[in-house]
Amino acid sequence: MALPTHIDPRKLALQGYLLEGEVKTDSLPRLASSVSAICSPLKAAVQFELDESRAKVAHGTADVTIDVICQRCLDTVQIDLHADFAVQVIWSEDHLHRVASNYEPWLVVDRMASLSELLEDEILLALPLVNYHKVGECTGDTFLNEVASEPDGTISDSPFSILEQLKQKR
Ligand SMILES: [Zn+2]
Repeated sequence: MALPTHIDPRKLALQGYLLEGEVKTDSLPRLASSVSAICSPLKAAVQFELDESRAKVAHGTADVTIDVICQRCLDTVQIDLHADFAVQVIWSEDHLHRVASNYEPWLVVDRMASLSELLEDEILLALPLVNYHKVGECTGDTFLNEVASEPDGTISDSPFSILEQLKQKR
C-alpha cells in the first residue's frame, strides 16, 4: 500500500495512528541523487502517538534497497538500508528545548507535513559515506588482502583502517 505523501502528524498522534506502507522511488529525489539506483520502494512503518508528557511523537522504521558504487572495485554493490527513528513534532525552532533527548525534533510549521521527506531524511542518515562489497564478493579483494594486516578480518567493517593503511603505503 502506498503511504500518503502528506499527513497531519498532530492529528495522527492524537489518534495513535499506525501508518504502514511504501514510498515510491520517484518521491525520494535526494536519495536518488546520492546513490546509483533505488532498487525497491521504501518500506516504512510509523507509529504516531502521545508520549507521557502528551508531546506528539512518531517512531518507526524505514527500509530500502539501493545500488551504490563499491569504493574498492568501483563496481555496483547492492545495499539494504535500515533506519530506526523517533521524532517529536514541534511548531517552531523556539520549541527545540521541549524535545526530549530520546527524540529528534520534527519541525512542522503548518498543519500538514511531508511524510516522504521525513522518511527520506532518516534513510539518508543511514546511508554510509563509503560503501564496499562484503569480503569475498568483491573483485578488489586481492588488493584488499595485500593491504590487510589484521588476521581476524576486522578490516571488513572498518573502511577507515583501510584508508589509513593506504596512506601509510604511499
Ligand atoms: Zn567491490
